[in-house]
Amino acid sequence: MTLQTLRTPTALAEAGLIDPADLAALERVAAQYAVAITPAMAELIDAADPADPIARQFAPTAAELLQAPGESADPIGDAAHSPVEGIVHRYADRVLLKANHACAVYCRFCFRREMVGPGGLRPLTPAQLDAAFTYVADRPEIWEVIVTGGDPFILSPRRLTDLMARLEAAPHVKVVRFHTRVPAVDPGRITDALIAALKSSSKAVYVALHADHPRELTAAARAACGKLVDAGIPMLGQSVLLRGVNDDPATLEALMRALVETRIKPYYLHHADLAPGTGHFRTTLGEGQALMRTLRGRVSGLCQPTYVLDIPGGHGKVPVGPGYLQAGEVEDPAGGRHAYPPKSSS
Ligand SMILES: *Cc1c(COP(=O)(O)O)cnc(C)c1O
Ligand code: SF4
Repeated sequence: MTLQTLRTPTALAEAGLIDPADLAALERVAAQYAVAITPAMAELIDAADPADPIARQFAPTAAELLQAPGESADPIGDAAHSPVEGIVHRYADRVLLKANHACAVYCRFCFRREMVGPGGLRPLTPAQLDAAFTYVADRPEIWEVIVTGGDPFILSPRRLTDLMARLEAAPHVKVVRFHTRVPAVDPGRITDALIAALKSSSKAVYVALHADHPRELTAAARAACGKLVDAGIPMLGQSVLLRGVNDDPATLEALMRALVETRIKPYYLHHADLAPGTGHFRTTLGEGQALMRTLRGRVSGLCQPTYVLDIPGGHGKVPVGPGYLQAGEVEDPAGGRHAYPPKSSS
């Protein structure tokens, strides 16, 4: 069992998670994009399976060196909506606050891969952080702050308490939503101190867990999420549709069931963004719609996420799931079509 986060191709090769023959190419990948696999995730990987879905998410591959048409360092156009460092303000009532740019693990398909990690953006300076909080405090239309990054749950409880205290200065902010992978990839970080930090303000706090494969919901991960939910913090699930990880009906269904069993409501299934070197992960929208159809009807309504696309260029997120209403007919989950309103028979 590995006890430390693996951060270099050499460390991954020593742990048996990559083929030493690939080291030279993977050193080039690692020079461009951060690498980190936590002990919890390293332990989950079946090194004997060349298609292991956990390894596929976190172990670098030479395919990342290939740039496909349309891929961009800023695939969802955040830059155009960033009025001050650390803030993205695309929708009037909510902002993203990127308090840090480091993560516990680095996902090979990350849409912020050019920004996160040691080679990416510098952490916000105290002055930049002040400016970000001032931006929020000065705008009464901001109802929700979405703390993302990087991964905000690698911040210390002390820093999270400070963040919550600074949001108290904005009484119009009613909701604070954290986006994180930590409860699954490093469950030991979900301590009483972290939970106390999240609960240290008057705001309604939500935690959105990013998980892409049912095996990520280990017993330890479920216990960590259980602590958050027991503390009165509602949890949402966010997943990315990824070729070779969860792009088959059985895996997607198992993932959604695992989330709901953990008291996490599946919120979004994201179509994979056009981040550089991630073409091997992307499905087509049609494939995504077909997968969503397999969930509908067969699987509890609690297990249905909204399939969304973040439109390149900064135009925002929209649902792109299948439609069940066409030309005066609705389609049932089995594919039968029915006039609506029903034709009267007399
Ligand atoms: C995704 C995103 C949000 C959150 O959108 P919701 O639909 O509320 O989950 C907010 N701001 C930006 C810039 C985003 O990209
Ligand atoms: S945890 Fe989130 S921000 Fe960090 S690498 Fe993964 S997808 Fe990107």
